[in-house]
Amino acid sequence: MKKKLVVLGSGFGAFSCLKEINYNLFDVKIVSPRNHFLFTCLLPSTTVGTIEFRSIIEPIRNIKKAHYIQAYCNRIVSSINEIHCEDSDTKKTFELEYDTLVISVGEVTNTFNIEGVKEYAYFLREAADARKIRIKVIDCFENASLPNISEEERRSFLRFVVCGGGPTGVEFAAELHDFIEEDVRKNYKGLDNYIEVILIEAGDKLLNTFDEKLSQYTMKIFKRQRINVKTNSYITRITKNEIYVNDGSHFKYGLLVWATGNTATDLIKNCDLPKNEHNKIIVDRYLKVKDTSNIYGLGDCSEIPEEPYPATAQTAQRQGKYLGKSLNKIIKGKNVKPFRYKDLGMLAYIGSHKALANIRQYKGSGFAAWLFWRSVYITKLVSLKNKVLVLFDWFKTFVFGRDISNF
Ligand SMILES: Cc1cc2nc3c(=O)[nH]c(=O)nc-3n(C[C@H](O)[C@H](O)[C@H](O)COP(=O)(O)OP(=O)(O)OC[C@H]3O[C@@H](n4cnc5c(N)ncnc54)[C@H](O)[C@@H]3O)c2cc1C
Repeated sequence: MKKKLVVLGSGFGAFSCLKEINYNLFDVKIVSPRNHFLFTCLLPSTTVGTIEFRSIIEPIRNIKKAHYIQAYCNRIVSSINEIHCEDSDTKKTFELEYDTLVISVGEVTNTFNIEGVKEYAYFLREAADARKIRIKVIDCFENASLPNISEEERRSFLRFVVCGGGPTGVEFAAELHDFIEEDVRKNYKGLDNYIEVILIEAGDKLLNTFDEKLSQYTMKIFKRQRINVKTNSYITRITKNEIYVNDGSHFKYGLLVWATGNTATDLIKNCDLPKNEHNKIIVDRYLKVKDTSNIYGLGDCSEIPEEPYPATAQTAQRQGKYLGKSLNKIIKGKNVKPFRYKDLGMLAYIGSHKALANIRQYKGSGFAAWLFWRSVYITKLVSLKNKVLVLFDWFKTFVFGRDISNF
């Protein structure tokens, strides 16, 4: 009789685990509200149409041997090996039993409980978020092109604000800059002098996990690109029309993208599994949740206290691969080695065909790093279909420009 394996999530950790599992040994159920895997590393490129949304997603039902259920898990009852789930659309609830549970539910964007964030800011985590941003960006340009509006109104529509100077905020600002340079100037005449891109960062530099020189290089390039970087600043309040900053200033805006880091999902916050001070599930070097015998945690929602790894796609993907292989061995009574990995480093796109490569063997920036950035991500995409589609999108954007239709 096959063992019941339940996997929570369809992101980097879960997807790579599911690719390794031996389906002759396990009866696998996947529970996730998102019925696709999303390659988040290229998500900022989809917000302005450099890449199309469907080019970086892979339906989870393509894993034919597993049984996928579109729902949230909202409770883990570890004492009786059971989870409680709810479908957010129909609100129907159900329970599932497991012999082994794998938790890879990631995290959510941290709003820091700042007034107005949930209501008025745009997040950038899911394909649906990127789609909303793309529509809004184009709406801002269409609104600013209306006849009989004041100069002040036009300026407000074209004030794009990004909150957070980490990789997501920086990459979004970079993509927006490219869109303005390469497509807006061609298609929306006379708006040039009204456009303003502001990046607000609470710390004293951008990309604080990157090498100091690369961070400074980004500041230099952003200055050249006329991206107004405000360091040591943070947003205190947002209303429908205005953003209030800690220095007492406030200004009108067209779009605000919120990219300020992560916090635990409600499932993890409310579950009674052992957690650290950041609300991450504590796992051992075998990714087994502390004080449990059959629950595993991986990716952004978990941490190995002795060896905390960065919350990146790379970590989640490697942990998923490791865990899939380990579970196949454990069920046969074989010994497994603990999880180990060396951080390969980070990459980020900063606009104008320039990128940063912050890896051990090579710390580079500029056009060569951009070619490297593109070649790494094309190889990391999870299916041949995605690789072909992304290559095609890059070619299409290069030849024809980005599509500015709105629907
Ligand atoms: C815009 C953006 C760009 C990024 N760029 C990079 C990059 O360039 N390089 C890099 O290394 N990392 C990058 N990251 C970080 C990377 O995406 C994460 O570290 C990685 O996705 C973590 O994988 P995970 O499996 O832990 O979680 P995720 O990939 O976030 O997956 C979590 C899954 O759990 C599901 N889920 C959530 N709640 C529940 C629940 N209650 N029940 C069931 N399922 C649930 C979600 O729907 C999702 O399918 C980026 C992130 C973002 C948002």
